[in-house]
Amino acid sequence: MAKCVMVLYPDPVDGYPPRYARDSIPVLDGYPDGSTLPTPSAVDFTPGELLGCVSGALGLRKFFADNGHELVVTSDKDGPDSVFERELADADIVISQPFWPAYLTAERIARAPKLKLALTAGIGSDHVDLDAARKHGITVAEETYSNSISVAEHTVLQTLALVRNFVPSHRYAVDGGWNIADCVARAYDVEGMDFGVIAAGRIGRAVLERMKPFGVRLHYTDIHRLPESVEQELGVTFHPDVASLARAVDIVSIHSPLYADTRGMFDEQLIGSMRRGSYLVNTARAEETVPAAVVAALESGHLAGYAGDVWYPQPPAADHAWRSMPNHAMTPHVSGSTLSAQARYAAGTREILEDWLAGRPIRPEYLIVQGGELAGTGAHSYR
Ligand code: NAD
Repeated sequence: MAKCVMVLYPDPVDGYPPRYARDSIPVLDGYPDGSTLPTPSAVDFTPGELLGCVSGALGLRKFFADNGHELVVTSDKDGPDSVFERELADADIVISQPFWPAYLTAERIARAPKLKLALTAGIGSDHVDLDAARKHGITVAEETYSNSISVAEHTVLQTLALVRNFVPSHRYAVDGGWNIADCVARAYDVEGMDFGVIAAGRIGRAVLERMKPFGVRLHYTDIHRLPESVEQELGVTFHPDVASLARAVDIVSIHSPLYADTRGMFDEQLIGSMRRGSYLVNTARAEETVPAAVVAALESGHLAGYAGDVWYPQPPAADHAWRSMPNHAMTPHVSGSTLSAQARYAAGTREILEDWLAGRPIRPEYLIVQGGELAGTGAHSYR
């Protein structure tokens, strides 16, 4: 019998289940690179249900009960007296989502001697100390591609929201105003602008593909260059490093994983090297910027806008500086947790659990750490 601690975001304030806006979600054939959607033996939920909150339990309550395993589901994750901290002591498996991350620090891993599997429901396992996981032989896995397109769509939304000054204009409409001059005094078209992504992995490439029809000039940098045919098809310019890209564009969108090389990447110096009036969009991880440098650049006007959905810590304090900085279009960390994405990553979580509990190999593309080393997608996308 295994014990699993699942850390999920709290239920909606009006109760669970919510009244859904739609009756179903589209059925997809597969992922854009031809890989298959998750293949668990079965699922015990209807796609389109809210699964990422405590009552949703990723649709896995029956699975754990039927197989005789213990499941603890909680949203109480921070501080020494939290349910997570208490239950971790004898847990074999921890499951958490980046939207409400259970921070598995080296200290916490040291206090969890039975822990063997840290599963991310979603993509991005930087809330797990990967070095500590390697040292303790913990397998770290996530559902690669499950929400990549969800994030790409949100990125396009936030890019347009910033450049077209959507948020203040919407506020005027709600508040009963008709202040055309005030709305348009900061509104531009993206057409003709230079748009660049840091990393052209699954999300970054999908963002490039979605921005191309807007008539922008595309740029990217990545530690792995795209095939020449893809570069030509997109008409995208490759930059050998972040500094070269940052100087050459009007809009930067960040899509690299968070690890030593990318931590604090957009600091005062790099932001200062960007064109005056640039926009920075970050749906990767907040710590890839220096938060105070972002605030200062917005206040001075060097950055015309900042948007994204990732913060540190999560949830951020009520007085976090990013809530009140000028010209931002931030959301909470929601881009990868649409009802559409939840159906995929909940099914993928079950696929991984079924394989792991049966002693079968986990799909290589789902792996971040295994056997004391970076593995699969982890070996490709982290260094
Ligand atoms: P991916 O593994 O397909 O792509 C990552 C890319 O980053 C790879 O092409 C890799 O070569 C590149 N890269 C790594 N280090 C780099 C560096 N130093 N400079 C430039 N490029 C570098 O992953 P993905 O599905 O595209 O996801 C990317 C990241 O987005 C995740 O790691 C996660 O942090 C974040 N994410 C956020 C959400 C959200 O809800 N906001 C959801 C999913 C993923």
